[in-house]
Amino acid sequence: MNEPDKPLYFDTAATTAVAPEVLARMIDLLDSKHAFANPSSSIHRYGQAAAAVVASARAEIAAELGCEADEVVFTSGATEANNLALRGVALAHAAQGRHVVTSAIEHKSVLECCAALQREGYAVTYLKPNSAGWVEPDAVARALRPDTLLVSLQHTNNETGVMQPIAEVADLAVQAGVLLHVDAAQAVGKFKIDLQQIPIDLLALSAHKFHGPKGIGCLVVRNRRQLRLQPLMYGGGQEFGLRPGTLAPHQIVGLSTALSLAAKRRTADLAHVRELKRRFLQQLGECLPVQVHGELTRSSPYIINFSLAGIISDALINQLRDDLAIASGSACSSGAVEPSYVLRAMGIEGEPLYGAVRLSFSRDHTLAEVSAAVERIVAAVSRMKELEISEVK
Ligand code: PMP
Repeated sequence: MNEPDKPLYFDTAATTAVAPEVLARMIDLLDSKHAFANPSSSIHRYGQAAAAVVASARAEIAAELGCEADEVVFTSGATEANNLALRGVALAHAAQGRHVVTSAIEHKSVLECCAALQREGYAVTYLKPNSAGWVEPDAVARALRPDTLLVSLQHTNNETGVMQPIAEVADLAVQAGVLLHVDAAQAVGKFKIDLQQIPIDLLALSAHKFHGPKGIGCLVVRNRRQLRLQPLMYGGGQEFGLRPGTLAPHQIVGLSTALSLAAKRRTADLAHVRELKRRFLQQLGECLPVQVHGELTRSSPYIINFSLAGIISDALINQLRDDLAIASGSACSSGAVEPSYVLRAMGIEGEPLYGAVRLSFSRDHTLAEVSAAVERIVAAVSRMKELEISEVK
């Protein structure tokens, strides 16, 4: 997947490259002389053609996720979908309660939205994960109160890859009569999520995490007619009044094509990335002492987060800048010097906290690229040791 003489890209949890099949369909549509119109212009044939494209993409997405087509609300990505879910529920249902339960290891688009709700008088409980990186269902049960409106729990953590016990929490939410929102940005496309099987009320996803384009995602709102949400914006009434603004058919088709492609390839892709991760850990472990963060048996094969004894992550990433594109802590906050709040919440401190790096894999990586990544890390560490730089004192 990588260009020669460029650093090897192992940061697919931040974003993936658009799949060629997706690109081809998007270009077709952008180039179309009959489906380029505004899908809301139902008065003429051009608008009807664009609306038909959107309708069939919506149906394709719904079929894959096990929901109804009119439960799919297109957004700009998972950030907007998470905000729409949390604020949408909190503002529309304030009369029934003003308490939200979430975890301390959510993506910032959940945490910052919750912080904003707190400033507006809502109460939020932030559950800590255990040291293995997952939130215990019992902790969720204990946090529920009579005024709890919503539980918001991610499917897969973007830093450690640890998967949360969503099925158990969904059962708890049903029993307690509270809504469940799941940020599935790191899971959709990679794992089968069947909303017929698991009672999730609100599911957020983003196309660019599974080889679709950036700038498109959706919030699935189950039982949308009963589940009232307050929109974040007001305008022309598109997306059932929940997300106004002219729809972008090429983006929407990019999302549906990427999702269908991911579904078709899921079993093979999963087996492939499992092997990539296994080999990576085995080969690196043969050369250096590796401390993995997050329980391996519960973590996504797409993500590995680890520290190397005595090595600070920023220094390692700097040493590797011509060799490997990887993330330190979360890519979304890697501009900041702050160590990872996710690892901190898991009780990781000191050397392993400051040493944590994340590699993330994709269907496009080869075993040879994984071996090359290991070689480059080992070489960088030995250069650092020789130069006596950047080790944790
Ligand atoms: N949630 C998680 C778990 C993520 O990893 C991301 C992307 N970093 C998001 C939400 C936000 O997605 P987007 O940037 O596409 O809005």
